[in-house]
Amino acid sequence: MILIVDDKTENIFSLTHLLESKGFLVDSALGGEEALKKVLKQNYALIILDVQMPLMNGFEVAESLRGFSKTKDIPIIFLSAINVDKNYITKGYASGAVDYLTKPVDPDILILKVKVFYRLYEQNLQLIQTELRLKKEIESRKQAQIELKDRVKDLHTILESLPQIAFKATSNGVITFVNNHWYKYSQAAHDFPQQYPGYIPISEKFNECIKSQTILEYEVKIKNLATGLYRFHLLRIIPVFDNNILKKWVGTFTDIEDQKQIEQKKDEFMTIASHELKTPLTSIKGYIQLLDRISETIENKKVGTFIDKTQDQVRKLESLISDLLDISRINNGKLQINKNYFNLEEVINNVIYTIEQTHTDNKINIVRVGDIFEENIYGDAIRIEQVLINFLTNAIKYSPGSDLIYVKTKLDLDCVIVEVEDFGIGISEENQNYVFNKFYRVKESALNFQGLGIGLYICSEIIQEHRGSYGVKSKLGKGTQMYFTLPLK
Ligand code: ADP
Repeated sequence: MILIVDDKTENIFSLTHLLESKGFLVDSALGGEEALKKVLKQNYALIILDVQMPLMNGFEVAESLRGFSKTKDIPIIFLSAINVDKNYITKGYASGAVDYLTKPVDPDILILKVKVFYRLYEQNLQLIQTELRLKKEIESRKQAQIELKDRVKDLHTILESLPQIAFKATSNGVITFVNNHWYKYSQAAHDFPQQYPGYIPISEKFNECIKSQTILEYEVKIKNLATGLYRFHLLRIIPVFDNNILKKWVGTFTDIEDQKQIEQKKDEFMTIASHELKTPLTSIKGYIQLLDRISETIENKKVGTFIDKTQDQVRKLESLISDLLDISRINNGKLQINKNYFNLEEVINNVIYTIEQTHTDNKINIVRVGDIFEENIYGDAIRIEQVLINFLTNAIKYSPGSDLIYVKTKLDLDCVIVEVEDFGIGISEENQNYVFNKFYRVKESALNFQGLGIGLYICSEIIQEHRGSYGVKSKLGKGTQMYFTLPLK
């Protein structure tokens, strides 16, 4: 808006008319005082100021305007009827005016000048706004940088406070931060701790996971620099993404040496205990067989029944001990598998027969369904028999209310599938993932059914040794299907 300041209404009228006809917004004041009041309330792009006014002349008004920060930059065009005298013009410019016109005003010149000033005003306004925006942007960037620095500091403090060795690396694997524990195992911040001779260097493993952008988790054996001893650690390196873009890696080494040693001691104990148990058990078996023979001469029928029951229990004990022995063999990497060509059909029939003979007191109905195998399979018949016996005894044990069990067989393109289906208590979905783990027993049923939770683990190891697969499908309360596959070639 343009402010016209003149003490004569007719001048204001003609100027207003002229400017409005060119599309400008116009306001007016009849004297200096009114003008000063108005400029403080309103924003003006330009002031057209008459010099000769009573009370306060144009120069005095201009001087006052230059005194306020709000108005000091508003351009002024002085209008004066006085002859162009150099003194007047100088005075006008000294009070901050930007231009000076003498009356009678040439309307074209006035409009030209007003247009120039108006454009300047608008450009100035834009500049001010841009400057403001830039200032804001700089401020917010500064703030973001401070926040980022704080976050990095927080992360470093957290990593420093961990009891583990911790580090941070760029997306391409350059280590940028290590905590104090790092230096117990490595001399330099950019070098990973040294692995036990023969183990894959950590940097090599890390490079693989940088390529795949996936979490790295594996056990390493690294050298403590002070003692010179190697200790087992669990190394975990996780990728940190921002908007799906890999930003960095954060890793920790957790000392698991003590757990490893306890585990090893437990394994050793199990090996010794199961070996020690085996010797007296063999003697017991021998004596029971002798008793069995003698019992034929004894009239009391009960003696024979008791001997049968004892034999039954001894068989269970024997199977437990042999499972424990298997576990220690697996731990030592010495599970014996003697592969040969064998007839799977015969093995299945033998197992069904044995189970039927040894479970005479519970009524069971084992039904064989599916393809009959003509071809011989390459593997360890005794171990496959062990897997099937395990599946079937579980099917009987975990189906107290049902006697029907299916043994299903199917010939696939490159493998055979053997499945044992029962209609017992079933296994919930979340537990299905773990039943093949060592010592895993489903908590809800563990109290009602005896066991050690090692049978399925041994089965999984045997099947893996045969390069087959295994699994479970089950519905809680409905029943379970346990299966394994064996490759045909
Ligand atoms: P165990 O039977 O000695 O506990 P296993 O390794 O043979 O050990 O089985 C592990 C767990 O899987 C069992 O404790 C049981 O909870 C569950 N399980 C195995 N087979 C069945 C089945 N047929 N029906 C229901 N649960 C089963």
